[in-house]
Amino acid sequence: MPGFEIIGPEERAEVEQVLQSGVFMRYGFDGARQGRWPSRELEAALAARLGLRHVHVCSSGTAAVFTALAACGVGAGDEVIVPPFTFVADIEAVLWLGAIPVFAEIDETLCLDPASVAAKITSRTKAVLVVHMCGSMARVDELAVLCCRKGLLLIEDVAQAVGAGFRGKPLGTFGKAGCFSFDYVKTITCGEGGAVVTGDAELHDLVQAFTDHGHDHKGKDRGADLHPIIGLNFRISELHAAVGLAQLRKLDSILETQRRHKGFLKDGLRDVPGVTFRRLPDPAGDSATFLSFFLPTESDARQKAAALAAAGVDGCFYWYDNNWHYHRRWQHFKDLASPAELAVKRGGWLKSLHNIQVPQSDALMGRTIGMLIKLSWTENDLNQRLERMRSVLSAG
Ligand SMILES: *Cc1c(COP(=O)(O)O)cnc(C)c1O
Repeated sequence: MPGFEIIGPEERAEVEQVLQSGVFMRYGFDGARQGRWPSRELEAALAARLGLRHVHVCSSGTAAVFTALAACGVGAGDEVIVPPFTFVADIEAVLWLGAIPVFAEIDETLCLDPASVAAKITSRTKAVLVVHMCGSMARVDELAVLCCRKGLLLIEDVAQAVGAGFRGKPLGTFGKAGCFSFDYVKTITCGEGGAVVTGDAELHDLVQAFTDHGHDHKGKDRGADLHPIIGLNFRISELHAAVGLAQLRKLDSILETQRRHKGFLKDGLRDVPGVTFRRLPDPAGDSATFLSFFLPTESDARQKAAALAAAGVDGCFYWYDNNWHYHRRWQHFKDLASPAELAVKRGGWLKSLHNIQVPQSDALMGRTIGMLIKLSWTENDLNQRLERMRSVLSAG
């Protein structure tokens, strides 16, 4: 998954140009910047490479999710259907906007189960926030149809699946908006960065204004801009965008390497008794950042995860116990612990998140091990890894 494995002269050259111009801000300073607009260039390059209509880059994936929700009109008292396997950023964004996270089940795709989503819809539901976890996709076509039928906004968190698609259509284009992250550990990195993508020109206009204090960016003089909406500062810097430009040019080779490495390990594990794999709605669209597999029981998975680590197979995650990605360890959310009282608490809409009931997800995640696919593995590393994995996973 991580583009940081291959930082090289390309990134340095891009950053050097920005340093030479001395213009680190994405707006204004037209004379000094010597014709270089890295953030704009990154937006155009992302749109071209990923087949997206309108792209706005911002300071982080968290900012992208917050901005997408806000610009789509998600606010105080609205219910947003979310998965229990995600990253904390999505829940943070929903809660700080005053909205209520409603947890639906995941299925063997490790993403939202459309049937469970349908069952969680109420008269207050405003949006479904689907998170394409660990490089691959949800049953996003079914979710899109459901949201369309019910008049709900579908927002995609594609932070972990840049370059992935479903039946030839890029993730991030199935709903109202898509959100990307280019933080340090993502498939391509800016150091810190993110993007909101949409096919809706009006929404794009709100998004770009929201991330810069509501500036309309209509004229040449920043000081004379109007502020049609209240926003925040979620701007990316030109230094970060410059890193992203070099990284994006490496995306195809990153995906190619990931798919090759993952394919080798997955093929080599197919005949191991008891091991089954995550369901991929479109295997060809997988970005292959992770290999996720199931064991027959929770105790098998716990035992094997520990044994893999002991055998030197690094990069394996037992997400069920993870405190960033799975709901069981989210004590601060359950307590609604925040420095200021949240709107959901003041409004009496949500007392706590102590009773998140997702038995299907718990049963599934308890049996799941995820393994990060690295770019830097050699042939020898791959052979050794497969041998060790086979030996640990086949042992009785
Ligand atoms: C990384 C991540 C984010 C947040 O991105 P940042 O750039 O780190 O703020 C959001 N959602 C998911 C699923 C992520 O993995």
